[in-house]
Amino acid sequence: MEDLYERIVADLKQKQTISPEDLKTLLADREETHESRLFAAARERAVQTFGKQIYLRGLIEFTNYCKNDCYYCGIRAGNARAKRYRLSEEEILACCNRGETLGFRTFVLQGGEDPFYSDDDICGIIEKIKKKHPDCAVTLSIGERSREAYRRFFESGAERYLLRQETANEAHYSMLHPPAMSAENRKRCLWDLKEIGYQVGCGFLVGTPGQGVSEIYEDLIFMQELQPQMIGIGPYLAHQDTPWRDKPDGNVTDTLRLLSVLRLLFPKALLPATTALGTADPKGREKGILAGANVLMPNLSPAAVREKYLLYDGKICTGEEAAECVKCLSDRIEQIGYTVAESRGDHPDFCQ
Ligand code: SF4
Repeated sequence: MEDLYERIVADLKQKQTISPEDLKTLLADREETHESRLFAAARERAVQTFGKQIYLRGLIEFTNYCKNDCYYCGIRAGNARAKRYRLSEEEILACCNRGETLGFRTFVLQGGEDPFYSDDDICGIIEKIKKKHPDCAVTLSIGERSREAYRRFFESGAERYLLRQETANEAHYSMLHPPAMSAENRKRCLWDLKEIGYQVGCGFLVGTPGQGVSEIYEDLIFMQELQPQMIGIGPYLAHQDTPWRDKPDGNVTDTLRLLSVLRLLFPKALLPATTALGTADPKGREKGILAGANVLMPNLSPAAVREKYLLYDGKICTGEEAAECVKCLSDRIEQIGYTVAESRGDHPDFCQ
């Protein structure tokens, strides 16, 4: 087993490859010394590329309305108990102003799929942010839209787009989503975004019902084809007001191991240690960084709306002001020997 594990980590490091059998071995193995070797290899690779620096992205959750009904999500349209809110353009711009003062160089506009904000509205918001904060990157995370909309957002100044594929396997996708949604359209969106010129982020939840090693492997293959610049993974966490309220949460250990695999397969990718990871384990974000992640996404949304953007139960950081979040995360980063980066944190292939 010792030799087998060594060989799997060596293949990941040197050839940037893993077979389905090796992925299965890696996830099934419970020997901690093996695991720490995998984490060390991934961490070393992240430091080679980025140094011991962590990029902060200021997350602005500007609407929790969503027209979709994904079975795992707390803000799905069918959840009548969700307290809905939308931020006005002025409120979004105020979050950015506050964010720049706190040192952020990236703003992530995230929301449910909310048709209330037309393509024109989104373009207008992007243009105003870029005019006021020309040195900051704008990342969108607003779901599936037309190729034409993506092109217009890009021309308005958005540089990055996050859209998790959730699962590349069509049958598994149908288990997680209602019939109106399809893996095919999800992938179409990701390819459109890539072709338009965005730095693209994709990803998946770890431990969703129906997910086995073969589904995870399919995600790795899809991502090797897509070659995204950012990859977000986090454990599946149940929400009490969804049809899946009784499904068990995803596993932190599996999430950390997969983070390391992703770091070794995609050495230059921006990998967040997600809030879901920090929710599942009080030290989850630190553990994520020590397993190869290099991004954190503190919340810049007004404190009054934070506890309404609940994709899953128990979400952390819903009570603090933005400045408290930044201070808390900076301290946590320093305690494990890293520092907060001051630059925008573009993918190395997109740095001027
Ligand atoms: S996962 Fe996204 S698209 Fe699906 S219901 Fe939640 S916010 Fe909407």
